[in-house]
Amino acid sequence: MNTENEKILSLSVQYIKSVGPKRAEAFKRIGIETVKDLLFYFPSRHLDRTTMLNAAKAYGYVMKGYDGEVTVIANVVDKEKKRFGKKELLKVQFRDSTGFFECIWFQGTKYFYSVFNENDIFAISSKPEISKHGNLQFIHPDFDKITEEESNSFLHTGKIIPFYRIPKELKKGYIGDLSLRRIINYTVENYVDYLDETLPAEIIKKNDLLSINKAVRFYHFPDDKNLFEAARQRFKFEELFYLEILVALRKHNYQTRLTGNKMRIKTKFVSDFIKTLPFELTKSQLIVLSEIKNDMLSDKPMNRLLQGDVGSGKTIVSLIAALIAVDNGFQAALMAPTEILADQHAKLISAMMKKLFSSHKEKEVRISLLIGGQKKSERDKNLSDIELNKADIIIGTHALFEETVKFNNLGLVIIDEQHRFGVKQRAILQSKGKTPDVLVMSATPIPRTLSMTVYGDLDVSVIDEMPKNRKPIKTVLRGESKLPEIYKFIVDKQKEDYQTFIVYPLVEESEKLNLKAAIKYYDQLKETYLKQLQVGLIHGKMKWQDKEEVMLLFLKKDFDVLISTTVIEVGIDIPDANIILINDAHRFGLSQLHQLRGRVGRSDKQAYCVLVTKDEIVSKQKHDELEFDYLSSAQLEKYKAIVRLQTMIKDNDGFKVAEIDLKLRGPGNIFGTEQSGFPDLKFADLTEDYELIIKTKKIAFELIKKDSQLLLPDNKIIRENLTAHYSENLKYAKTA
Ligand code: ADP
Ligand code: MG
Repeated sequence: MNTENEKILSLSVQYIKSVGPKRAEAFKRIGIETVKDLLFYFPSRHLDRTTMLNAAKAYGYVMKGYDGEVTVIANVVDKEKKRFGKKELLKVQFRDSTGFFECIWFQGTKYFYSVFNENDIFAISSKPEISKHGNLQFIHPDFDKITEEESNSFLHTGKIIPFYRIPKELKKGYIGDLSLRRIINYTVENYVDYLDETLPAEIIKKNDLLSINKAVRFYHFPDDKNLFEAARQRFKFEELFYLEILVALRKHNYQTRLTGNKMRIKTKFVSDFIKTLPFELTKSQLIVLSEIKNDMLSDKPMNRLLQGDVGSGKTIVSLIAALIAVDNGFQAALMAPTEILADQHAKLISAMMKKLFSSHKEKEVRISLLIGGQKKSERDKNLSDIELNKADIIIGTHALFEETVKFNNLGLVIIDEQHRFGVKQRAILQSKGKTPDVLVMSATPIPRTLSMTVYGDLDVSVIDEMPKNRKPIKTVLRGESKLPEIYKFIVDKQKEDYQTFIVYPLVEESEKLNLKAAIKYYDQLKETYLKQLQVGLIHGKMKWQDKEEVMLLFLKKDFDVLISTTVIEVGIDIPDANIILINDAHRFGLSQLHQLRGRVGRSDKQAYCVLVTKDEIVSKQKHDELEFDYLSSAQLEKYKAIVRLQTMIKDNDGFKVAEIDLKLRGPGNIFGTEQSGFPDLKFADLTEDYELIIKTKKIAFELIKKDSQLLLPDNKIIRENLTAHYSENLKYAKTA
């Protein structure tokens, strides 16, 4: 790294022309302190001449029936607010050299009124329309204020103008569109060439990438659209390249630097256990098991992700892995995300082990359950059992992380429902043994782009087949007004031995409210529609012992119906619960809905998932009504909710559901940095940049294979850049 350059770039923004101490303060509030920070404050969009029309042409454009977004540059000539009914509308009149047009706002009129002032010049971008009175009109358009000078250079030289986000901290410091654009322009002109390259020359050449100096310049001020694209491409590449380098390092270090426990299949213990099962393992379960077994028998530590849709039978697979470890004298830890789930696993596994013990008297598998809320004496006994190797399979929640938990000989870590745990937690558990094998399980199928990036350091096994006896779940969407009929259905089905979950959503603003809803309906329903049935209640505020008791009663069929908040979301297994009614279904995320649906359909009976939502949403389902001209954020949310509900009705396949979920939410919201230990992506998009991911992955993995220490002169840049910018992420590359 050129320290001279670094010094210049670390100059305070204060010394940049027209900044000074006051504005520098404002910049600091949004994290911009140095020249370099400013160089990387990229525009959120550009005004591009290719979609540019004058008012007359835009009019003709609509008349000819084109429909797409255009940009018109014009002056404000007039503005007026009009009342209609209770609502208010803002109309702003514009003029350019060829004619007039108007822009209309229905929302935020007060704010927009203050934005548009006579004679100001704006670039207006939107889909043009013709009003009832025959005027050219834009409804809720995007707009950017520009100077006369800019409008001239834009019109005559075809320059592309950048637009920057101006957070309120900058506005308060009197930095607006125009001044920021000038400041950045000055900075780019004078400092961009001091930036040191962050990618090896060889890689830049081979992949036809822009240098960092050009890329920064053109990201701000491209001469044409292609140059901007090239700049963007370079940053996407860089971002994914470093991500994949971290993935490759993590995987490499795990596989080569660490030696695992080489286990053996010594006795018939495990195969005898499989014989005690009341069902045959599916082909898919068997394949996955052999992959797991190979890992465990090798001296490389296992680091495997087991994916399988809800109900595909992952638990039993992980239990068999645990028994291999136990047979080799190791302890196995099974970590679940909730206490009820841990408790359920413990009960189920204890019962199976008891059965096994009756035929294998010489070997008793001892189970220990460690969760919050246990009595001190009980907890102390568990802890000492774990430490003194008197427990073979240890089941628990986060409690397993605690420092007081000392394993005697931890050989296998199983993490159920992995999407709730991040790499940090994984690393902590791993450190509790001597490089134990690790198996993480997830029912949220991870789209391919993610399994190549965020989970790229794991080997992946997939159970892609459901146990034979399963029928696809019937999913329907109903309006709230249909609830009485649905209750009747539940009552009728009870005669056929059906049990039902009724779920109320987690109200984000207040867990208390949510609880109140569940309790209220519980009180109501058992006195009214469900009077003939036994109704139970479970919610997150209950102590786990109480939850456990309710679940047990439900399992024993003391309850026909269980009213619940979302505590039942993950993993719970009640074979005869074959109806799930989900209230306010529009409030749930897609993967959450799919998880909830997975609570039913676990036997050979036909199962039902009834999604209940507002009547208005059900009637909006027809596709053509979904096309809004202008989506306010509330409308967008509504739109997404409808897509989620439609997806649930159409798709039973968790992989499809997950892909749509990823599109709707964006990957950041599903797997944040915290979870993965990888850097956030600013340029690349995991749903869209599939090909680039494959490409950078290949390059990164080959590079690490050849030069895992990054010692070659060509790779020096990578090493320096990793230490300078990715040190936090690097930590997990070394330990995990
Ligand atoms: P998940 O993959 O969602 O964790 P579970 O492991 O809870 O699913 O399994 C769901 C149900 O299917 C359990 O009741 C389990 O006993 C049962 N099961 C697992 N494997 C099979 C199989 N091969 N045939 C029939 N039932 C099975
Ligand atoms: Mg499970």
